[in-house]
Amino acid sequence: MSRDIDFLHPYFLGPNAENAQVFEELLVEFVRDHAYWRRNFHPEDGPSVPASAPNKDAYADFVARMKTELYALSSELKRAVPFFHPRYIGHMTADLLLPGLIARLVTTLYNPNNVSEEGAPVTLEKELEAGRQLCGMVGYPTNETADVCAWGHLTSGGTVANYEALWNFRAVKFYGVALQAAAATLDFDPPAVGPAAKPLSAYSQWQLVNLSLAEMIELRRAVASAFQEDRGPRAFPQFAAAVAAERIETLGNAGFFLKHRDLKAPRVLVSASTHYSWEKGMKVLGLGTANLIKVDVDGHMRLDPARLTGCLTDSFEAEIPVLAVVGVLGTTEFGTIDPIHEILDLRTRWREHGCDYGVHVDAAWGGYLATLFRNPDRTLRERSEMRKHYKHFPSPAVHSSFQALSEVDSITVDPHKMGYVPYSAGAFLARDRRVVDFVTQKAAYVFDLGGSEAAVPIGEKLHNLGQYILEGSKPGAAAASVYVTHKVLPLHREGFGRLLAQTIKACESFYEQILELADRVKHKVRVVMPFEPDTNLVCVAFNPADNTSLAAMNRYSRALFEHMKVDPLQPLQVKSFIASYTSLLCDTLAEDQHARILDELGIDHATFTSLPEPSKGEADHVFILRHTLMNPWLLSEREDGRNYIDRYVRYLEELIVRTASEPVPATTE
Ligand SMILES: *Cc1c(COP(=O)(O)O)cnc(C)c1O
Repeated sequence: MSRDIDFLHPYFLGPNAENAQVFEELLVEFVRDHAYWRRNFHPEDGPSVPASAPNKDAYADFVARMKTELYALSSELKRAVPFFHPRYIGHMTADLLLPGLIARLVTTLYNPNNVSEEGAPVTLEKELEAGRQLCGMVGYPTNETADVCAWGHLTSGGTVANYEALWNFRAVKFYGVALQAAAATLDFDPPAVGPAAKPLSAYSQWQLVNLSLAEMIELRRAVASAFQEDRGPRAFPQFAAAVAAERIETLGNAGFFLKHRDLKAPRVLVSASTHYSWEKGMKVLGLGTANLIKVDVDGHMRLDPARLTGCLTDSFEAEIPVLAVVGVLGTTEFGTIDPIHEILDLRTRWREHGCDYGVHVDAAWGGYLATLFRNPDRTLRERSEMRKHYKHFPSPAVHSSFQALSEVDSITVDPHKMGYVPYSAGAFLARDRRVVDFVTQKAAYVFDLGGSEAAVPIGEKLHNLGQYILEGSKPGAAAASVYVTHKVLPLHREGFGRLLAQTIKACESFYEQILELADRVKHKVRVVMPFEPDTNLVCVAFNPADNTSLAAMNRYSRALFEHMKVDPLQPLQVKSFIASYTSLLCDTLAEDQHARILDELGIDHATFTSLPEPSKGEADHVFILRHTLMNPWLLSEREDGRNYIDRYVRYLEELIVRTASEPVPATTE
C-alpha cells in the first residue's frame, strides 16, 4: 500500500524534515545567487558597508540585538501549530510544497510589488500566468484572441476574492441605469440600442438591472458610438463625466437608491453553510447583511435548489434585483459541494423571464479538486472513469458541479489552502475579463467612448493590475510561489491531481473506519457523521449512548476536543492528534434536517433550542469534531502496518469510550 505514495516523497519538507538537505541546498544556492546579482549591479560603485565595519562596537551591538531577537522568535515559534504533520487534522492547512515554499522565500529577497509591472517586471506576468493556469483548471476559456477570455489574479485570500466578486457584479448590474440617467441629463436618446433594439429611454430600470455582462458591454458600446455620431468625438469627455457621475460607485448605495426610488437594493443569495466572509463583504460594500439571503441546505449540507427557487421567486416577484447567487464548492465546515449545475440551470430559466443574476462559486477550499476532474489535454474526465479509482467519489452531484464550473461568472480559489503554498495566496477568477472595464479606477470614458486607451488590449492593460482589483501593493513572491508550484505540478489529474487523490482516499478510508467504529461502540457511544463527505473533510458527532440531552452531549464532545486542541499552556508533544470542531447551528439547517441528526444521535428534540436559555445550557447548537484530511502522509504506514488514519480511529475509540465513563464537567470555558 505504502508504495502508492512513493511519488510524494520529494514534494514536501516532510514531517521529519526528511528533505532538509535538498531544501537547504537550494536555499543556499539562491541566497548566494541573489548576493551575486546585487554585486553585479554597478560593481564600479564599490561597497557602502566597508569591510572594516564589523570591527565597530555599534555594528557588533546591532548584530547582537538582532541575533537575540531572532533566536527568541525562533524559539517561541516552537509553540506554532505542527500543520505539517499527519497527526494534525484540524484546519485547512498542511505541509507546504517545496517548489512554492522555496519560490516564496527566494522571491522575497527581490521583494517585487505586483501592484503594477513597474515594481514587478518579472512576477506580475507570473501572477497573470498563475491566473491563467487556474482558469484552465476550472475549464474557463483562455484564448486571448477570442471574444470571451477569462482572467485571474491573486488576492490575500478567499475573503478578499469574495469581496471582489461582489464589487464586480455591482459595477455591471447598475451600469445601465447610470447610462440611461446620464443620457437623459444630456438630452440624448439613441434610437435603437441594446438587446431589445429600442431607444435607451424606453428601457425600464428593471430591464436594465437584468442585463447580462455581454448585453451590458453591447449596450455601452452602442450608446457610446451613437453619441459619437450625434455630437462628435470632442463631446466625449462630457458624456463620460455624466455617466461617471451617475454610477453607484460615485453616488454611493444610499445616493443611488435615493435617486432611483423605484429600484430596490439588491440581494445576494448564498447557501446557509456559507463562509462568514460573505457577511463581511456585504458590510464592506455597504450592501447590508439584511440583503444576504441564506438559502437552506438539504440533507447533504448542499444548497437546496427547491429552496433557492423559492428565494428567487420571492425576490423577482417583488422586483428586487439579485446581484448574485453564490454556490460553495467545498464548505469550510463540512467540505460539501453545492449543486452548481442546478444554480446555472435556474439562471437559464429565469433569463427567459427577463431576470438575470451573476453566479459566483466560492471554491476557496474545493477549487483545486478540479484537478482531479481534468485530463492533461484539458478535457473533463467522465465520472465512470473516475469511479474506478475511488470507493465513493465523486457522487453524480459532485461530478456535475465540477463540470458546471466553466460556466459560472467568477470563482474564488485559495492556493494557500488546498494548493499547499504559503499564506497569503488566494485567487479571484472571472470568466469574461471584459468585466474589468466596469471597475477600473481610470476615468471610465476611455473605455466607454473609444478613447485611445480603449484600443489597448485588455491583456496589456492588466499589467496595471492595481487599477482592476481591490488591493494595492501586494507580494510578487506569492505569485512566484503559486506559479512555480503549478509549473512543477500541472493542474490536472496527473500533476496536482495525484496529490489530491490521496486526500480523497484518506477520506474514504476514514469514512469507512468511522462506520465500523460506530458499530463497535454503539452500546456505549453513538457516533454519527451528519453528512456524507463530498470531498476530504469529515465531521463526526458523538453522544454517550444513554444521554438524551443536547447540552450534556455538547459538554461531552467539548471534553473530547480538549484532548485534541492546541493549548498554549501545554507542550504540543503531549497531544496525540490535533483536530478542530464546528457547530451545527439551529438556524443553518432546515427543520427536518435538525430532526434527522438529533434522532440519529438519540437526542430529545425538546432539549434543542434557538434561544440561549440558561436552564438549557449550551443547547442552541450541535458540537461536532471536524477533520480536514489534506495531509499528504495520512496513508503512510509505519512498521506495524498501520497508517495515520488507522491510528487516529483507534485513538478516538479509546478516547470516546473512556470519556463516556468519566463524569462530564458541568460547565466548560
Ligand atoms: C477559507 C474560506 C474562505 C476565506 O478564505 P481566506 O483565505 O481565509 O480569506 C472563504 N470561503 C470558503 C468556502 C473558505 O473555505
